[in-house]
Amino acid sequence: MANEQKGSSGTSILSLPTEVLSEVLARFASSSSTDLFRAKLCCKLFYEVSDADNIYQQVSLDKFEIVPWQKNHKVSRFLEKCRESKNPEALYRKGVVDFFTDKHEDSALECVEEAANSGHADAAYALGIIYIFVGGDELKRKGMRLLKKSRILKGRVKLCRDNLLALLRMIWVKNPVFLNPTPICCAMTHERKTSSWPMDADEVEESTCEGYACDEEIGAICAALPYG
Ligand SMILES: [Zn+2]
Repeated sequence: MANEQKGSSGTSILSLPTEVLSEVLARFASSSSTDLFRAKLCCKLFYEVSDADNIYQQVSLDKFEIVPWQKNHKVSRFLEKCRESKNPEALYRKGVVDFFTDKHEDSALECVEEAANSGHADAAYALGIIYIFVGGDELKRKGMRLLKKSRILKGRVKLCRDNLLALLRMIWVKNPVFLNPTPICCAMTHERKTSSWPMDADEVEESTCEGYACDEEIGAICAALPYG
């Protein structure tokens, strides 16, 4: 058959340089982990190539539960490798789950920051919320800027809020910083105005206030939090 003749003339996929092959597999993996695992079983070369960092970095985690009901060593190891290879979704999941359940707070925050820096919108949203909760003035302002000004979140705030809430419904929120939310972004936004025009401070149109919008964001998250 024509295909077989072509194969025997030396242009088979197996003769591609391994970097090219791993790039091809990474593309498959980014849309479906199932395709990656199938390719892995297909031959020894694929099996070896599929262990490359760029594949773990891009592989889709859609088929994996965000919070697994049962601990599975193989899955844990796989997700760990994804995080080591800087897979943004893997970093986001681990970071948010750990942070809100009050485990390894520092490394959890680093995971979320790393995911957000690589352009993961859900991570950027979660990071904005976390900064506002834990921050002193400067970090709170950074959180407000993230929620209201970042390009990654433009037009996606509602979607990201829904995604974060869906994730938080699967865990018990134990981190004490989330237990007593106090809306303060609005007040912070008007600090300077308050000192120059104390009389006008109360008359600010809240619907246009970025701080107020952030407080509402915080309120929406807190209202939906399951506390354990
Ligand atoms: Zn305000």
